[in-house]
Amino acid sequence: MSWAYLEDASGYRGHADEVLVPKDEAELLEIVARAASTKTPLTIAGAGSGLTGGRCPDGGWLISMEKFKKIEIHDGYAICGAGVHLMDLHAAARSAGQFYPPDPTETLAAIGGTINCNASGSRSFKFGATRRWVERLRVVLTTGRVLDVKRGDAIDFDVPEIPLPRARKHSAGYRLKPGMDWIDLICGSEGTLGIVLEATLKLLPAPKSILAGIVFFTGEDDALDALDAWRPIDGLRMLEYVDGDALDLIRTKYTELPAAARAALIVEQGDVTDADIDAWSDRLDEFKALADISWFGSTDADRERFRQFRHALPETVLKTVESNGLTKLGSDFAVPVDRGRDILRYYRERISADYPGRYCIFGHVGDAHHHINMLPANKEEAEIGWRLFDEFARKAVEMGGTVAAEHGLGKKKKQYLKYQFTPEQIASMHEVKRRLDPDWLLGRNTLFDLPAEFAA
Ligand SMILES: Cc1cc2nc3c(=O)[nH]c(=O)nc-3n(C[C@H](O)[C@H](O)[C@H](O)COP(=O)(O)OP(=O)(O)OC[C@H]3O[C@@H](n4cnc5c(N)ncnc54)[C@H](O)[C@@H]3O)c2cc1C
Repeated sequence: MSWAYLEDASGYRGHADEVLVPKDEAELLEIVARAASTKTPLTIAGAGSGLTGGRCPDGGWLISMEKFKKIEIHDGYAICGAGVHLMDLHAAARSAGQFYPPDPTETLAAIGGTINCNASGSRSFKFGATRRWVERLRVVLTTGRVLDVKRGDAIDFDVPEIPLPRARKHSAGYRLKPGMDWIDLICGSEGTLGIVLEATLKLLPAPKSILAGIVFFTGEDDALDALDAWRPIDGLRMLEYVDGDALDLIRTKYTELPAAARAALIVEQGDVTDADIDAWSDRLDEFKALADISWFGSTDADRERFRQFRHALPETVLKTVESNGLTKLGSDFAVPVDRGRDILRYYRERISADYPGRYCIFGHVGDAHHHINMLPANKEEAEIGWRLFDEFARKAVEMGGTVAAEHGLGKKKKQYLKYQFTPEQIASMHEVKRRLDPDWLLGRNTLFDLPAEFAA
């Protein structure tokens, strides 16, 4: 799958005066200089798998980074151009007996995009988000300055501290802390501060063995009991949830899906011993899982089959919504782990009251991060869905969570920023933006509304 330059995977559509595809740094610097002198807005495109419209331009020039394709694998790290697809990095690392932990389900995503969204995905349960794996960045600012910064290289200006939410994942707004380094500032900045050209990323030795499984349950309560009990399992690196409605959505594609299954947990455990494998059969019995019909496997092919199963969920949601002429209506809120059940109950109560039967929930529940996917049939229903999401964004923050765990806010969700941060905190983010991008050229209307003085 690929996305047209002016769109992203959320179905959001932008417009541009020109699409430019620089072949190297010199050409990019020349484009940036021309844009700065003519005050032309610039939007940076990775692979377009983003879900918030961040890479869709609102006028000006779109710069695609697709030609920045360098990959070098070293012992413990990789050097990657911004345009390298995650799947290519995964394959190159694998052939050297190593692996790159961040795993947003969409492996077509480009490295520059994943850094700018601080993407995470299923394995963030154990390994955290992209930010943790970035060791060095090469970044072009609209002032013409080229930064080549390593982890620990501090920014050269003062910023206040903005407290982080208690949720384990967070990718909304800029991370600010006095003395912070450039890498923490650029990661998650959604193409609004600088253009990432290249990154050095940490790699780990590939685990010697991995056990993967899709465990089915007859209902949500049993699955949630198992979820709470399984979080501390040693070596568990993935703990994903799929509810009964989401399973129903892909039953025509996966006819082998057991009819009794009304909920599922997807798990992966690394470096497993025979005792670890035996322990799963006790666990399945203890938590009333459908042990005989759950799926387990330990080969690359098994894992790829399970990955495709997991990937079929967002894909089918997208197709369903698009077939009704609408764009994706999916949430990315996360709360602290101890509030995971509370927020799920709240979502279900509110959606059943206003929107019964036309949604499904799946996602990274190991981190109390649910993707609620609305399946509206028409524009009126979509509006109800957006109203509910607005309410859910405020509720997630009230519970100590975040309005964006891994997708960023882009253009479709920037209205949630004010629920997460005070006006003073947002003003300090604006100050950073003005310092690095004085004419507010990069990523216009992503993350922030355009300040009046820059509007044409
Ligand atoms: C089916 C599906 C499943 C997904 N599952 C997950 C998941 O589990 N976890 C997750 O985190 N995400 C997930 N995503 C979302 C998406 O894959 C991520 O947001 C990814 O990080 C986007 O990368 P991209 O290269 O496609 O970026 P784009 O969509 O091209 O851009 C995203 C943002 O990054 C900026 N940007 C891109 N490249 C650069 C650069 N070189 N320099 C500066 N700014 C840049 C853009 O301006 C934009 O704001 C999923 C998407 C799909 C379609």
